[in-house]
Amino acid sequence: MSQKPIKSYKLNEGLADKAGLSPAQKEEITKIYDTLRQIFEVGATLDPEKEDDLTMIRKTVEVVEALEFKMQSLWGLPPNTTYHTWWNKHPLCTCPVEDSLSLEEKGESRRIMWDCPLHGAA
Ligand SMILES: [Zn+2]
Repeated sequence: MSQKPIKSYKLNEGLADKAGLSPAQKEEITKIYDTLRQIFEVGATLDPEKEDDLTMIRKTVEVVEALEFKMQSLWGLPPNTTYHTWWNKHPLCTCPVEDSLSLEEKGESRRIMWDCPLHGAA
């Protein structure tokens, strides 16, 4: 099974300054990026065919979502899952990655692949 590549993300300093983020808030966001990368690196080694691994993979979904909410709050944004951009970046996720437009702007809901180990119904 082919996996999604794990990318490194850096805080957009210009945007962070515009949003008036404090150094502490910037540091926290940077830490969340690191945590997500670690979660994805571990995730890449898991086997959805194994029950224990699958349990861990499914747990990841909640953890990633919590981190996305945390980032929205750090950016001073209201919690809104349609603006979440990490949920489908997990290496084992088979859901399509759309362009950067939020789903809300497009009036769409998430496209979930039925066989995705993270989000599918299987
Ligand atoms: Zn998925």
